[in-house]
Amino acid sequence: MSPSPVHQSQSPLKLLVVGGGIAGIMLAILLERKGYNITLVEQSKQWKPIGGGITLTLNGVRILQETGLLSAIEPYVNEIRNINITNQQGKRLSSFNLDEYAVSYAGTLTLLRHDLHNALVGRLSSTNVCLGTSCTAITDEGDKVRVSFTNHQTCDYDLVVGADGINSFVRRSIFCTTSNKYSGYASWRFIVTGVAVPQNTLTEMWGVGKRFGIVPLSGNKVHCFASLNTLENSAANSNISINDFKALFAGFGGYVPKLIDALEDNSKLMYNDLEDVYLEKYHKGRIVLIGDAAHGMTPNMTQGASMAIEDAVVLAAKLTDKSVVERSLERFQAARSSRTRSVQKKSNLLGKIGQLNNPHLCRLRNYCWQRIPDRWIQNDLKNLLVHNLSF
Ligand SMILES: Cc1cc2nc3c(=O)[nH]c(=O)nc-3n(C[C@H](O)[C@H](O)[C@H](O)COP(=O)(O)OP(=O)(O)OC[C@H]3O[C@@H](n4cnc5c(N)ncnc54)[C@H](O)[C@@H]3O)c2cc1C
Repeated sequence: MSPSPVHQSQSPLKLLVVGGGIAGIMLAILLERKGYNITLVEQSKQWKPIGGGITLTLNGVRILQETGLLSAIEPYVNEIRNINITNQQGKRLSSFNLDEYAVSYAGTLTLLRHDLHNALVGRLSSTNVCLGTSCTAITDEGDKVRVSFTNHQTCDYDLVVGADGINSFVRRSIFCTTSNKYSGYASWRFIVTGVAVPQNTLTEMWGVGKRFGIVPLSGNKVHCFASLNTLENSAANSNISINDFKALFAGFGGYVPKLIDALEDNSKLMYNDLEDVYLEKYHKGRIVLIGDAAHGMTPNMTQGASMAIEDAVVLAAKLTDKSVVERSLERFQAARSSRTRSVQKKSNLLGKIGQLNNPHLCRLRNYCWQRIPDRWIQNDLKNLLVHNLSF
């Protein structure tokens, strides 16, 4: 699937994308195919390796397949066939199998973030990419948007897309608000090499106010995450020593002791507060937000990247002529807001359940979760499938 080309009578949009993450790159690739004149600014001075692994769920994978981009990441992926939730000792609470979806729809894949990113960057062609550049001011002047950059230049655009992540500058510029809501928990991530875990099974282990996740990657690597209920912006957590980290997750069984033992030093730990971004509207005038800038969400359903990919496809499909940009953005909002909000809410709820802090409630949670038929959880995945990619 590729967006329909610009009609002869239409003039191509002059467009600025702020942020070269998954959302921004994906949008630029799709709009290049429509013949648009795109500038993409990315604050990082180079496409530096982005840490950790990422799980790309079936809805995002399906779009990559339909847009001809899946082949770019295929050399780097591992396929997940089962998702298990266990207690902290590794006793199964629920398990669902993804084979049926892999055959009829698309697989669920894991890979290193920087492999995903590099593969997508490699598919850019005509976009004018400006690394080490960000915006200092964005002003909507009705028929155009005037943007000033850190390199002291000022340019006018028909449309500005804020794809600048969870702490979006573009969002703050147009809505003058932060909109970020801390979830109450934060997460460490790290990659280990050489610890054998089941290659096609993603496991999330529920403890008391803590969780541990095991995400196998290709190349004998495992991406691990460990979440903890804690105050926001904890300097102690972001600088935690290896011994304190090990002590914090010492109660976890299964593969966890081996995985944590394989951690050599605390520089390998990446720490993030986990947040949601709630916005009523994703656009104002000729400026629109996509990806985490519009609807950052907790990663409990591993949907952030797929939602960013979906946004890019929908926005690319809705944009037509520059005389009707605002109409196009309204149609984008109408197509996206209820879906992103419902995924965001579900992800948030799943996080609340997984992060329960009271030992009695945790026992009750585990007892009940074990009795939910696996089929119910498996069927719920159907809500994520997108069948009509032109939206
Ligand atoms: C701990 C954790 C684990 C996660 N795990 C998963 C997972 O397994 N699967 C999944 O689907 N999602 C996961 N997510 C969510 C996922 O990472 C995001 O949803 C996804 O990266 C969003 O893409 P984006 O392009 O919108 O934003 P980002 O990936 O954040 O990209 C934004 C880009 O904009 C740039 N930028 C920022 N400000 C400016 C500026 N002012 N000017 C220019 N450039 C700027 C940044 O440098 C960056 O390159 C996880 C998130 C976290 C925090």
